[in-house]
Amino acid sequence: MKRRDFIKAAAGGAAALCGAGSVEARPNKEPLENAVGILYDATLCVGCKACVRACKEINDLPPVTQGEEVQYDASRGVTGATYNVIKVYKNGTSEVKDREIDGFSFAKKSCMHCVDPGCVSSCPVSAMTKHPVTGIVQYNPDTCIGCRNCMVACPFNIPQYEFHDPRGQIQKCFFCNQAGVDRISQGLLPGCVDVCPTGATLFGTRKDLLAEAKRRLAAKPGETLTYPRGRVTDQVHTHEKAAPEYQQHIYGEHEVGGTQVMHIAGVPLKKLGMPELPERSYASIAEGVQHTLYKGMIAPAIALAGLAYVVKRNTSQSDQDDE
Ligand code: SF4
Ligand code: SF4
Ligand code: SF4
Repeated sequence: MKRRDFIKAAAGGAAALCGAGSVEARPNKEPLENAVGILYDATLCVGCKACVRACKEINDLPPVTQGEEVQYDASRGVTGATYNVIKVYKNGTSEVKDREIDGFSFAKKSCMHCVDPGCVSSCPVSAMTKHPVTGIVQYNPDTCIGCRNCMVACPFNIPQYEFHDPRGQIQKCFFCNQAGVDRISQGLLPGCVDVCPTGATLFGTRKDLLAEAKRRLAAKPGETLTYPRGRVTDQVHTHEKAAPEYQQHIYGEHEVGGTQVMHIAGVPLKKLGMPELPERSYASIAEGVQHTLYKGMIAPAIALAGLAYVVKRNTSQSDQDDE
C-alpha cells in the first residue's frame, strides 16, 4: 500500500469514527458568495486539447517528450508539469458520442478548487490557502515545508510534488492566477476557458455555473439550447445546439462539500474517472478528529511542522549565504 493510500485509509477510519459520533465534527464550509469556477460540459468537448496546450503555455510548463517528439497535449495524467488533462472514455464499438454503451466521451482532470479543501485544511504551515473572495485554492512555495500532507488529503489526487528537484514544490492548477500569471485578477479568462472553441469549459461564478448546469440538465433531449462560450454570462458569443441526454448529476455540486470546478456529461461521471465521494468534506472530518484528540493541547503535528519550518527557513538562509 502506498503512503498516500495508507493515510487515505486512515482518514476513512477517522470518518467512520465521526460517523459513529465518537469525535466532534464541524460542518462543511459554505461556498463563498463570489466564488469563481469552471463548468466542464463533456457533451460539448470535442477533444481538441487546445485547453491542455494553453494551460502549459500560460503556466510556462514543459512539454511531454516521447523520443524525439515534443508534445504539449500528450500527458496521460496530471503531473508536476501538466495541470490539465483531457482523457477519452470508450465502450464497445464507440460509435456514439456521450453514450455509455457502445459510445465515447471526453473527460477533464484538473484541480476542482474544492469549497472546503482537504489540501488547505491539512497544510500545517498554511502554504495552501483559499482566496477569501474568489475561493481559488492558491499556494505559497516560500512557506511550504514539503511535508506533502496536501497530496494525501486531496480526494482527487491532484497536487503533485517535484520529486526530481531538491527544491521541489507542489504543483497544481492555480486557476491561472498565481503571481506572474494573474489572469483572473486582470479580468481575463483562465487559459483553458479562453481557447475552448465550443464553450465546453466555461468560466463564471459558482452560483451562475450551477444555475447554467441545472438549465442544461432540465432540457429535454433534442430541445434547442443556447450555449455561451467563455463566460457563462456572455450573451454574444453563443451557439445553438440540440440538448443531449444528460446524466442527472452535476459533479461537484455536493461531492466532498462541493467544488468550484463542476462537470456534467452524457456518460455517468464515475465512468469518466470522477470518484464517488461523500457529501462530507475531508477537511471537516480531519479537523473534527484533530480537535477531539488534541483539545486543550498543542498538536504534535503542528509543533513538528513549526520545527520543520524553522529548519527550512534556516536552510534557505544558508543557501543564500552560500551564493
Ligand atoms: S482538488 Fe485537491 S488540490 Fe484541488 S482544491 Fe480540492 S483538495 Fe485541494
Ligand atoms: S485554470 Fe489555468 S491552470 Fe487551471 S487548468 Fe485552466 S489553464 Fe490550467
Ligand atoms: S479546448 Fe474545449 S473542446 Fe477542446 S479539449 Fe479542451 S474542453 Fe474540450
